Amino acid sequence: MKIALYPGSFDPVTNGHLDIITRSAKLFDRLVVGVLNNSQKNALFSVDERVSMIKELTQELPNVEVTSFDGLMVEYARKIHATCVIRGLRAVTDFEYELQIAQSNKIQYPELETIFLTTDLHYSYLSSTIVREFASYGGDISKFVPASIIPKVMEKYSIKKKES
Ligand code: ADP
Repeated sequence: MKIALYPGSFDPVTNGHLDIITRSAKLFDRLVVGVLNNSQKNALFSVDERVSMIKELTQELPNVEVTSFDGLMVEYARKIHATCVIRGLRAVTDFEYELQIAQSNKIQYPELETIFLTTDLHYSYLSSTIVREFASYGGDISKFVPASIIPKVMEKYSIKKKES
C-alpha cells in the first residue's frame, strides 16, 4: 500500500491546497493530510479547527485521512509509514526552499521521496497568507477558499477586531 503525506499549516485551507489534495489522492492508495502543530506560529485557527475544516471538505475522498502532527515532518512520515511526501510548487520562489527541505529530509529518511505537484494555473498566486491578508481588511475571499470556510475566517477577524 502506497502511503503519501501532504504536510502544511493550512491556516486556513485554500482552493490551492484542495486541488493538490484531490490530485494526489488519485496517485496513492492512502493520502494523509498532516496539519503541522507549530506552537511558535501565531496561527489564526487552532490545529483542531484546521483538521476539522479539511476533514469536512474531503469527506467524499475515501482514501484521504486528516491528522495533525508535532515536530519533524520526516519523523511523522516514518511513523505513519509514508514513503512519499507531497509538496505544491507555485512560483520559483517556492523552489529554493522546497529543494533544501527535500534534500535534508532525504538525508534523515532516505526511503522518503518528495513529489512536487505544480499548482493549477488558477491558484498560482494563492496562499493562506493572502487569504488572511484580504480577510483582515474585510476583502472578498470567495475565489480563494471554499464557501464553507468564508464565514469561519470572517468570524475570526470580527472576534479579533472586538478584542483590539
Ligand atoms: P501556505 O501558507 O503558503 O499556503 P502551507 O504550509 O499551508 O503554506 O502549504 C502546504 C503545502 O501546500 C506547500 O507545499 C505549499 O507549497 C502548497 N501550496 C499552498 N498553496 C498552494 C497553491 N495555491 N497551489 C499549489 N500548492 C500550494
